[in-house]
Amino acid sequence: MSVSRTRRNRTRRVRVGTTAIGGKEPVRVQSMTNTRTDDIRATLRQIRRLEQAGCELVRVAVPDHKAAAVLPKIRERTDIPLIADIHFDHRLALAAIRAGVDKVRINPGNIGSRQKVKNVVRAAQDRGVAIRVGVNAGSIEKKVLQKHRHPCAEAMVESLEHSLEPFEQLGFKGVVLSAKSTSGPDTIEAYRQMAKRWRYPLHLGLTEAGLKFEGAVRSAAVLGVLLNQGIGDTIRVSLTGDPVPEVVAGFEILRALGIRDHGPVVYSCPTCGRTEVDVEKLAREVSRAVRGIDAPLKIAVMGCVVNGPGEAREADFGIAGGRGKGALFVRGRVVRTCASHRITGELVKEMLRARNA
Ligand code: SF4
Repeated sequence: MSVSRTRRNRTRRVRVGTTAIGGKEPVRVQSMTNTRTDDIRATLRQIRRLEQAGCELVRVAVPDHKAAAVLPKIRERTDIPLIADIHFDHRLALAAIRAGVDKVRINPGNIGSRQKVKNVVRAAQDRGVAIRVGVNAGSIEKKVLQKHRHPCAEAMVESLEHSLEPFEQLGFKGVVLSAKSTSGPDTIEAYRQMAKRWRYPLHLGLTEAGLKFEGAVRSAAVLGVLLNQGIGDTIRVSLTGDPVPEVVAGFEILRALGIRDHGPVVYSCPTCGRTEVDVEKLAREVSRAVRGIDAPLKIAVMGCVVNGPGEAREADFGIAGGRGKGALFVRGRVVRTCASHRITGELVKEMLRARNA
């Protein structure tokens, strides 16, 4: 994995296990398992799939003591920076910290008294564990919500400010902040205000973004605005279903903004009346074939030999489909033609040859 650009050093760097968030660190991509955490095998299997997709931090839900009890076993079997997601019961946060997680996510608004929050902060301080203080539009402190009448950006930031008091009183340095909403404009405004006000690293996300396609598009629109302004130190694209596409979408957002590269990218043409091959099928085949290659190469899959190479001049490698055969091109220049059924294999060979040259 390569990093094409580092970000401005505006936030404080917070260590999370073997990685770090904020400061000059690249924007980290994270996700969350959706298995029952106490199903250790299923949870570990999903963590491994997320890791293979490039996920850099994984959060697991800790809804009860049964889930908290298996955390030491999960910790033992994975090195990925592990985050425990806690609501309502501060004892679960204490158990997670004892189990060796690297970060806990709490919403101080629902964790109980200030004393309980302080107990969690002290335990985290002792063990070098980070804490994400996360406020959601649906969990704004009651009196703040009454003042603002509805869950707007200002209300989320004010609620966050109150939540931060015990952390600041104890001089806790491992804070990461988030304020999520299903409203794009509220999310953007809240993070803009947070970025002006604090130097804590910011975890970006749109809550309950939706199904794979809709959720990825909504997240890209909102997170893109913020990231392009240099706001955001780690992202999670929340999607309903298998979490692996969250990681893919996260890296695609960063790549589209020129913030990070992550392995090869496959571009494909939209097809038109000149198309002579099944471009969608070919693009999927190429995506599968280049999955194991870690260089940040641009590969174009185009639907015709007439305009394809020219249209994909910026790509490192490409295929332009024709009837029964296709042209293989390297940086806009056709290097050879071959039968359609061999073209993907030839492309991979060409890429490996270039890598080993
Ligand atoms: S590459 Fe060819 S087939 Fe694809 S959109 Fe352009 S002209 Fe049409």
